[in-house]
Parts: sequence; structure tokens; C-alpha cells
Amino acid sequence: MAFICTEGVSKVYRTGRVEVHALCGVSLRISQGEYVALMGPSGSGKSTLMHLLGCLDTPTSGHYWLSGNDITTLDDIKLARLRNREIGFVFQNYNLLPRLSAQGNVELPMVYAGVRRSERTRRSSELLSLVGLGDRLSHKPSELSGGEMQRVALARALANRPSLVLADEPTGNLDTRTGQEIMRLFDSLAEQGNTVIVVTHDQDVAAHARRVIRLRDGRIEGIN
Ligand code: ADP
Repeated sequence: MAFICTEGVSKVYRTGRVEVHALCGVSLRISQGEYVALMGPSGSGKSTLMHLLGCLDTPTSGHYWLSGNDITTLDDIKLARLRNREIGFVFQNYNLLPRLSAQGNVELPMVYAGVRRSERTRRSSELLSLVGLGDRLSHKPSELSGGEMQRVALARALANRPSLVLADEPTGNLDTRTGQEIMRLFDSLAEQGNTVIVVTHDQDVAAHARRVIRLRDGRIEGIN
């Protein structure tokens, strides 16, 4: 079975009497080590699909296997454990904790995973050096530029050596040059064999991926 495998996945949001069919029968396969861009117009279901692939939510119907686990059968605790172990997230707004230093932010997923302190310190410094922030360990998010905050977020996403890195418009708040630097970091992740899925509406960002999956009205419109 492919590393990521969805079969007829649908998601219906119910708000009062209104039903929104955000995804309608999405079936896809993504192998370990693939670099994929998820594209589509606003409202086409990109974020919904990313939330499902990231085990932040479960489908209304259909099946999703991640690394052989049928996630539709897992309870919330097992889902959270799988998420923390297997998936690293990068968001447009960085989602860093303002009170923690860069190093503290990168250590947080390791705290949840029960990694001991000395190992956390070692690994967070190593990851921050990897993204070019070896000299910013003690800086708080407010003392960092947008590009630097996104680098911290990327280092945090890698903390527990995830098998899947999911990014939702990771360069959306960055200027073109800084965005390109961040995309080069994603490229090197993919070159090292990580599975990377980037949600974007930006053709230049999608050009980095080996495969583009296009969504429209909650359906896969095309894969190339
Ligand atoms: P995209 O990321 O491509 O812009 P989304 O996945 O955010 O698309 O949204 C798909 C559709 O689902 C939209 O019509 C949106 O209004 C609706 N939707 C998304 N999230 C929710 C929610 N939490 N509750 C109700 N409707 C939602």
C-alpha cells in the first residue's frame, strides 16, 4: 500500500442548516519520498484535504491510510500520537509560541513526545543550525524576521523526524526572495527522501514539486 492512500474521501461541514461539501470522493496515492504540490482556487478544498492528510480532522466518509494505519478507525488519543510522531506542519502564519525562544519552540513537539532534555537541546540546536539560525537560538519570535520565523517553524516541523511534512502556503507572508530561500529548504528536505506536500496557489512555489494535484469544487481535477 502507498504511504498515503485515500479512497473516496468526502468531507461535509454542517453549519446550522447549511451543508458544504468541501471534498467529494477524493482518491489519491502518494509514495514515500514524493514531493507534491496541492493547488486549486480558493474554496476548492485544499485546506480541508490538508487537515485530513495531517490527521487534524477525520473524513465524513471514505478511508485514509497513512503509513498503513487506517486513520478513520483511530480514537483521538491514537490520532494525536500518530500526528506528533509522523507529521510535521508548517503554516502560513508560522504559529510559533511568542513567549518561547526559537529553541523552545523547536523543542516543544519533543516535549510532547517525551524526549529527554539533553537530547532535546542537542537536536533543537542542530535543526536550527540546519535552517541557518544557529546564532538565533535564544531569540523570541518578535525578535525575528518573517523568513526567520518560518525557518524556526520548519525546524520545529522536523523535530520528531516526521515521515511527512505538510505545508499550507508556507511562503504566503514572505517577500519573493525570502520565499525562494524557504522553498530551497523544502527542496533539500525532499532530496533527502522526506515526503513533502505543499498547499499553494502560487505557480512558482508549485514548480518546485515533482507532481501537482489540482482540486476544483472538492474533486481532483487533474494530476501532472
Ligand atoms: P481552500 O483551502 O481550497 O480555500 P477550504 O478547504 O478551506 O478550501 O474550503 C472548502 C469549502 O469548505 C469552502 O466552501 C469553505 O467555505 C468550506 N469550509 C471550510 N472549512 C469549513 C468549516 N470549518 N465549516 C464550514 N465550512 C467550511
